[in-house]
Amino acid sequence: MEMLTIKSWKERLESEKAYDLISELFEKIEKSKLNAYITLNKEDALKKAEDFDRGKLKGRLAGIPIGVKDCITTKNLRTTCASKILYNYIPPFDAHVVERIKEEGAIIVGKTNMDEFAMGTTTETSYFGVVRNPYDLNRVAGGSSGGSGAVVGREAVLALGSDTGGSIRCPASFCGVFGLKPTYGFVSRYGLIPYANSLEQIGPMASCVEDLIALFEVIAGKDNRDSTNAGKEFKFERKDRKLRIGIVKEMTADDKVMDKFYEVVEQVKSKHHVGEVEMPSFKYALAAYYIIAMSEASSNLARYDGVRYGYALDKLDSWNRYFSKVRAEGFGKEVKRRIMLGSYALSAGYYGKYYLKALKVRTLVKNDFARAFNEFDLLISPTMPALPFKIGELADPLTMYKMDVNTVPINLAGLPALSIPIGFVKGLPVGMQVIGNYFDENTILNFALEVEQLLN
Ligand code: GLN
Repeated sequence: MEMLTIKSWKERLESEKAYDLISELFEKIEKSKLNAYITLNKEDALKKAEDFDRGKLKGRLAGIPIGVKDCITTKNLRTTCASKILYNYIPPFDAHVVERIKEEGAIIVGKTNMDEFAMGTTTETSYFGVVRNPYDLNRVAGGSSGGSGAVVGREAVLALGSDTGGSIRCPASFCGVFGLKPTYGFVSRYGLIPYANSLEQIGPMASCVEDLIALFEVIAGKDNRDSTNAGKEFKFERKDRKLRIGIVKEMTADDKVMDKFYEVVEQVKSKHHVGEVEMPSFKYALAAYYIIAMSEASSNLARYDGVRYGYALDKLDSWNRYFSKVRAEGFGKEVKRRIMLGSYALSAGYYGKYYLKALKVRTLVKNDFARAFNEFDLLISPTMPALPFKIGELADPLTMYKMDVNTVPINLAGLPALSIPIGFVKGLPVGMQVIGNYFDENTILNFALEVEQLLN
């Protein structure tokens, strides 16, 4: 499948009108079976295309169509988080990343489908239905940024996703594209509707490394409105050096995925030193992640009361009854499960037993990574433990949570990690996860460029 890139799109813009190209893209989306968009931004996008044709739209991403995950706030454009409770929410402001892509002339195609409040690994929890995998419509596109993964290179050139425990890397892996979860603090979270603040970052998704770099350079950087923002800009530098690469022994996958992974590792060995590294704390990482994520979620989601915005009831009642009814009707099953489990983990008597203990594991995970980065420049693993699942295949919540085993340690530590498409097994894409040290996205992206070339 020929994927759209910034380069191929710009080439077409030399001989064709942006208006025609964008109209054609919407025709394709309107016929699409992927269900990757929740809300289309058609009128505004066509207007922007006309601006481009008149020479009025300028910037690094001028005229480039992009999909924005529906938990990222867009001014005057519906932002639902794939939840019934926000089905009619039209934000009065833009997220920092949206301001930045607009300043650079990107054309927002629409808001991409996701798991409700980003809670999931398949988009099956979306109020707007599941996103289908572009390589097999009976399978999932991954989650929670499944819509973003599915549109990249097909129904947009670029996309923005968010990653709390793997939500950029999983759909990147399942859809055969690149997806970067940046170092915590590199990209402002201003305007990202929170699921678990201490874990999540917005990040770029693209069909080639060059495009991923371009989008990351635009969105990374200083923003005073996010108190955890590091205030650093990102500028890519090409560096050609022999790297020390560690395979993380605890991060595995089923045999088919592992065979593919090692096939690529063999090729990488021709240039770099490859070793193995053990991370003893990882056996507790998944449990710690879910305790922390659910605890933060239970507090974050307390704001949805159906009073100021979002889903509301016609009949007023006592505030307590009104509030309970709105939440009972507005939230889906998985979101309710997590609010309950999170409230439990934070309640008196259990706080020390669960939440505090999870924070201690978080420190152990950070220490394991620190040790590994004394010895290695990059760490690698398969991104997902299996090939894209059939829709409905992961029957119970725990089975689904387990699929995040390779991705969540990175969020606990706040490190950057990229999923690189490394080929196909039975026609389904496989991804390799590349983990770097804090704010060392440059080394990850240099390595990704090499792998991309190696596999082409
Ligand atoms: N699947 C993980 C979860 O459900 C990660 C989701 C995410 O990164 N937003 O929490």
